[in-house]
Amino acid sequence: MKRIAVVLVLCLFLCGCTGDTQADKTFFAMDTFMQLQVWGVDAEHTVEAAEELICNLEKEWSVTDDDSFLSKLNRGLRIGLSPEQQEVLDKARQLQMRTGGVFDPQLYDVMLLWGFYDDNHRVPEKAALQQALMEERWDLGGVIKGYAGQLAANLLLESNIDRAILNLGGNIQTVGQKPDGSPWQIGIQNPAGEGQVGIVSVEGTASIVTSGSYQRYFEEDGVRYHHIIDPKTGYPAQAGLSSVTVICRDGMTADALSTALFVMGLEQGTQFWQESDDFEAVFILTDGRIFATEGANLSGCEFEVIQREK
Ligand code: AMP
Ligand code: MG
Repeated sequence: MKRIAVVLVLCLFLCGCTGDTQADKTFFAMDTFMQLQVWGVDAEHTVEAAEELICNLEKEWSVTDDDSFLSKLNRGLRIGLSPEQQEVLDKARQLQMRTGGVFDPQLYDVMLLWGFYDDNHRVPEKAALQQALMEERWDLGGVIKGYAGQLAANLLLESNIDRAILNLGGNIQTVGQKPDGSPWQIGIQNPAGEGQVGIVSVEGTASIVTSGSYQRYFEEDGVRYHHIIDPKTGYPAQAGLSSVTVICRDGMTADALSTALFVMGLEQGTQFWQESDDFEAVFILTDGRIFATEGANLSGCEFEVIQREK
């Protein structure tokens, strides 16, 4: 009994000395399940703060909540933008330019026509889609989870949390090293069914974001219509891909590029990667073949490596 008490006191003393704890949090936000796992000083408290931050971002950027800042902006109300809000809108514009318009942050009217906001899905008339493409109402669904992961990571780092893995509905944000010091191992979802097709190994703080036609879709007359739109046509992108995973140090960029590369397809996406130096990518084709850029650190599956042109 005495020995147990000594061990207990020693444990309390050691924990008290380092203050290191581990905290997990699972919750529903941004229309998906999120799981935050955090290690470090005062992890319990910090994980709560990260959850609050994500939920506040949802309230700000939702297009289905009439009270959100973005909905008000879309209704043409004269509202003052905070510097952070202006920064996100500017960055979305820059990403649109960088991708030659393939990433389009103003597809609200197109998404509305397809019924993706109220799950009242239908195939719109071509003329209505053409009209909707001319509208300029915002939808940042293509970047907001990546942005939220990035802000949550920044908050954790400022709170002296040096290890964390955040799963925002399949968008992964890592912080620091894994507790045992080895690289993080992130599974890539099998777009055609259960489980994962491969693993990317990531060192340190990064975003690993996947866009896939399996994530949100409906079927009509035997045809599948998914939620990633080609801004040239207003129809779901059909570039021969089932999913694209992007690994990048910046969360919002990772998210925008995964959406954009899905629209571009393998050939154009490869060329885009060759002209860039800030991300790696894994492409899964509709026929099941997998292609990974040379720095993607993919393992656990057969794939072709995309190399930089010499
Ligand atoms: P993601 O799952 O990150 O690829 O983003 C898909 C979401 O982004 C959709 O649900 C829409 O809200 C929006 N979206 C769809 N197509 C595009 C596009 N071409 N560019 C930017 N956002 C898009
Ligand atoms: Mg995206």
